[in-house]
Amino acid sequence: MLGRVEDALKHYWGYDSFRPMQLKAIESVLAGRDSIVVLPTGGGKSLCYQAPAVTLKGTAVVVSPLISLMQDQVDALLECGVPAARIDSTMTYQDQKAVLARVRKDSIKLLYVSPERILSPGFVEFLGNARLSYLTVDEAHCVSMWGHDFRPEYRELGRLKEEFPGLAVHAYTATATEQVRADIARQLSLDNPQVLVGSFDRPNLVFKVARRANRLTQVRAVLERHKTESGIVYCIRRKDVDDMSEQLCQAGFKAAPYHAGMTDDDRKRSQDAFIKEDVHTIVATVAFGMGIDKSNVRYVVHAGMPKSLEHYQQETGRAGRDGLEAECLLLYSGGDYGLWQRIQQDMEPEPREAAVAKLNEMYAYCTGVTCRHRALSNYFGQDLDKDNCAACDVCLEDLDCIDNALVTGQKILSCVIRLKERFGADYTTSVLMGSRDQRITGNRHDELSTYGLLSNHSKRVVRDWVEQLVVQGYLQKAEEYAVLSVTQRGWRVLRGQETPVLLKPTEGRSKVAKVARDSWEGVDPKLYEALRRVRGEIAQRKGVPAYIIFHDATLREMARTKPETDDELLLITGVGRRKCLQYGEAFLERIQKYRRG
Ligand code: ADP
Repeated sequence: MLGRVEDALKHYWGYDSFRPMQLKAIESVLAGRDSIVVLPTGGGKSLCYQAPAVTLKGTAVVVSPLISLMQDQVDALLECGVPAARIDSTMTYQDQKAVLARVRKDSIKLLYVSPERILSPGFVEFLGNARLSYLTVDEAHCVSMWGHDFRPEYRELGRLKEEFPGLAVHAYTATATEQVRADIARQLSLDNPQVLVGSFDRPNLVFKVARRANRLTQVRAVLERHKTESGIVYCIRRKDVDDMSEQLCQAGFKAAPYHAGMTDDDRKRSQDAFIKEDVHTIVATVAFGMGIDKSNVRYVVHAGMPKSLEHYQQETGRAGRDGLEAECLLLYSGGDYGLWQRIQQDMEPEPREAAVAKLNEMYAYCTGVTCRHRALSNYFGQDLDKDNCAACDVCLEDLDCIDNALVTGQKILSCVIRLKERFGADYTTSVLMGSRDQRITGNRHDELSTYGLLSNHSKRVVRDWVEQLVVQGYLQKAEEYAVLSVTQRGWRVLRGQETPVLLKPTEGRSKVAKVARDSWEGVDPKLYEALRRVRGEIAQRKGVPAYIIFHDATLREMARTKPETDDELLLITGVGRRKCLQYGEAFLERIQKYRRG
């Protein structure tokens, strides 16, 4: 049976083999055992429930939270030649009836529906009389209040097992926490489910963190590196979105805004333009992202710090779904931290405590100096199985540590002591910088021995070092007014028994990560651009997103191997029979023309 699914994988999708976790997930589907599959975005969840559906008798029903998601998936399946359909409220009655008739005839392998629809009485009855293979709940974390996307209509899905006794239910999510996982099993009343949890690390994402200096310049630098490629710039506030989007357009970039303050129509226009690649950059608040399956997002920039690492993981997760390298730059400032703190002040005490803890973890990540892939994996309770990820600023040594960190650390810590541990980070920094601020002279702190000790550095750098000492546990901030004090560990530094790590600021330099070098290895960039244009024309003509025709990875392989015949084209990952038939000629012709020069 598994062999048939593997044949289908090659025939329809043009892929050679399943990834290890996909194999296990598919075995559960074939065995008819309930399952919960947790894989990060881009981990290949959809194939786990799509590929077996093709080989089993009957229709697999997929519950999905958003119409745009369903549409995208159905379009992609049809392109591969898999009979799939969706039923949703935007369709005419006639169209819906036609789909149902095909389900009745058992000529649809995958049917996408919303949670409200699948449990509506008429539909339950209809499905009860149809031949079904299994049920799938996509984005299953929406069932849990502990997740970040709770949807009340998902709660009702607990009835699936009652309404469709004997059918296996398979739940898929990218949300990592143990609590959410347990909740999914409980809420959906799964029967002894097989729980499969993949690694949350995304090795193809290149993580970089920088303190924000000039927002626009820093964001533009990323866009310059990815001209004509798609990417997302996240901002905290709507106003920042509008300003940034306008500034980027003025600078000649094709950008569009997206936030909850815009009308539905305007938002949809921005989103469609991004998906169809009429605009390259979407500038957005966190409102943007769910339901975006666009596989070739090559960069995600956070122009402001998110409020938790969960959010950060979710948002950066939208980059590089096709497995190719993608750049994730996070710009942060102490001001962002303060902004979130102010927003959290109005929360009820209990959720506030959790929110503050998450915010602190986020800030610690920004100012920290451990491998970003490791830090993220650890946060989600997993270890990283390599010492050097070769895909973050820390491991690429884009961050340089200063040589005299012990002495510099001692200067900062003794300044805190001299200030009798009664002042915050800004004030302490100003004293170390030798500021003539009235408050400082008024307090006669210009007479301290530590006054002006670090005046040969920029204020931003010194302020950063203070934060780095906090994160590494040498200084602590009191709850009220964030007053600094020296910890036990800090005293070890003062006594010269321990050396902190302090970073040299390195703006502007940027090393190329191994993933990026590897995926471009042997690729003819000019031919790649030419093939992208061919793809763009086809997509435009058919009115579908470009990545549904072929993924970037497939085009790169074409631009690497330069196939000359259908058979050679079929060897390329992502070229199945139907796509070869439909588009093979156009691409082969372009390659031939290029060869001739
Ligand atoms: P998820 O739903 O987990 O975010 P997707 O199902 O969208 O992930 O898959 C991510 C990308 O990986 C897609 O471009 C998909 O076509 C590709 N992919 C998935 N499984 C395989 C495989 N076995 N071989 C090659 N590519 C794969």
